[in-house]
Amino acid sequence: MNIALIAHDKKKEDIIRFAKEYHSILSKHQLFATGTTGMRIADEADLKVTRFQSGPLGGDQQIGAKIANEEMHMVIFFRDPLTAQPHEPDISALLRLCDVHQIPVATNLAMADIMIRALDHKDFEWKDIIEQNR
Ligand code: PGA
Repeated sequence: MNIALIAHDKKKEDIIRFAKEYHSILSKHQLFATGTTGMRIADEADLKVTRFQSGPLGGDQQIGAKIANEEMHMVIFFRDPLTAQPHEPDISALLRLCDVHQIPVATNLAMADIMIRALDHKDFEWKDIIEQNR
């Protein structure tokens, strides 16, 4: 599965801790990230990560393009809800594309924890449900 990892600056420590905690699960998948998040995860959590541009320079949009092409299957995006971001439109667009394409997205540590454990147990059936309702 292709998994995107993104964290705003004040959430970078959280995503590093998350990546270390779930290293054994994450290492079984293809990981992608925005620039700084990806560099820190690679350096500090010792995971192989394909890096895009930094978020404010277009990284969120690059991940959005992957979603639009059905090439990204899960998004873990630790947002900072207390700080204005210059690239807010890109963030909204990315989350919108997750909804358009039925991509599971966690915007905080609590949901990411649930999602990654479900992933490990192969406890995802949303694609089947979508197919059944077509
Ligand atoms: P960064 O981008 O990983 O390059 O910091 C994340 C963001 O701010 O959207």
